[in-house]
Amino acid sequence: MKIAVYPGTFDPVTFGHLDIIERASQLFDKVIIGVSTHPEKKPLFSIDERIKLIRECTKQFKNLEIASFEGLLVDFARKKKAGIILRGLRELSDFQAEFQRAIINKKLAPEIETIFIATNAKFFYLNSSIVKEIAGFNGNISCFAPKQVENALKQKIGK
Ligand code: ADP
Repeated sequence: MKIAVYPGTFDPVTFGHLDIIERASQLFDKVIIGVSTHPEKKPLFSIDERIKLIRECTKQFKNLEIASFEGLLVDFARKKKAGIILRGLRELSDFQAEFQRAIINKKLAPEIETIFIATNAKFFYLNSSIVKEIAGFNGNISCFAPKQVENALKQKIGK
């Protein structure tokens, strides 16, 4: 059974994340979305809110599990019996940090492989920060994230 962990902050989930999730769900028997608590990043949405949004936007995928984690990613992957860490790659700036993490994780857990999925060209510019920024200025984010996220951002930002 091929189990992959797809970790991230998902603050909030975007069409870029959902595209990776859809493709991963076809590649692996089970995909575990690991929502990192990341207090140092000061997320806009709480861990429960981020999980709820992902859950609402991924109902159609039957081989998904969503869980929060803190601490080392490799420990979380081992706990979940996942042999694969999955990351999305966008531009060159992603590559440097991701490459370093993949090598360090391989040292920490040689039995776990990191696999990258290249972003869909439609979403290579997209990340959660830009979505929050646009929503903060009351802009239209409907081409960046699902309706549930749009509503949650409106509520959170109060516009
Ligand atoms: P992190 O803080 O761990 O980078 P993110 O929520 O920003 O968490 O991203 C989680 C994962 O999703 C990362 O592997 C990131 O590269 C990937 N990702 C985010 N946005 C996109 C996108 N538009 N296209 C492809 N992958 C993406």
